[in-house]
Amino acid sequence: MTTYEVTLKKDPCDGIFACLTRDPRFIEDDDGLATIDPDGDPVYDGDGEVREVDGDVIATFDDDRIEEARQAAAACPTNAIVVEEVDP
Ligand code: SF4
Repeated sequence: MTTYEVTLKKDPCDGIFACLTRDPRFIEDDDGLATIDPDGDPVYDGDGEVREVDGDVIATFDDDRIEEARQAAAACPTNAIVVEEVDP
């Protein structure tokens, strides 16, 4: 298990949705940009906390799926996603 934070910065997000195919916890928001929904993945039980800070979306997870989040971050052409391990 790893505790990690996923930050989705709305400013650079371009709605290209390369992230969705890497990690289904990223979903399309009402504004046409991406957001994070722990329940967005139909396969895994959603678990995680999501909050908004200055318009950005920050989600905290405690699971074995940091690699998926990292792949979504790597696939994002505008570097709108940041994944960081945090102390539990
Ligand atoms: S890949 Fe990046 S720019 Fe595209 S929707 Fe996802 S976060 Fe936004």
